[in-house]
Amino acid sequence: MDDRTILVHACCGPCSTASIERMLTEGWKPTLFFSNSNIFPQEEADLRYEALLAVARAYGVPVIREVWNHEGWLEAVTGLEAEKEGGRRCEACFAYNLSEASQKAEELGFEHFCTTLTLSRFKNSKTIFRVGERFPHFEELDFKKKGGFDRSLVLSRELGLYRQHYCGCEFSIPSS
Ligand code: SF4
Repeated sequence: MDDRTILVHACCGPCSTASIERMLTEGWKPTLFFSNSNIFPQEEADLRYEALLAVARAYGVPVIREVWNHEGWLEAVTGLEAEKEGGRRCEACFAYNLSEASQKAEELGFEHFCTTLTLSRFKNSKTIFRVGERFPHFEELDFKKKGGFDRSLVLSRELGLYRQHYCGCEFSIPSS
């Protein structure tokens, strides 16, 4: 496989916009990968996937969707349910999603994989990189750099993308 091909764990459509735009300008050949068993309920995962498909169409990149396995994800964060956002539950969540992406990259023969999770202002890229380095072929691409987050707001508006109002799991849904 061409050594600029890269499997991109895509957390959602909005975060993928500026990430994909930047990768294409840097000569990467991205394939989007949507697993995200952390997202609850499944209807919300479907909505986010639809937004990702709109991004894939806009940039002409392929998408792979993995089966949603929320039960498996809940097992991975057992005992961490009450953690604050940004804490140990989120670290376990990153590990779950990056492990899935790493396995898929391995299975399909990608030399590299990365995640759009680093675009969000609400997620610490250093923590994501610390988790990512456990897996082979992980690329430390920090998409919030070079104005990535602000650029994603512009591009998401242009594409009329659905924007979620909570991070993803049931523990991150605002109570009122
Ligand atoms: S708040 Fe977000 S990153 Fe943290 S565990 Fe829930 S879905 Fe994962």
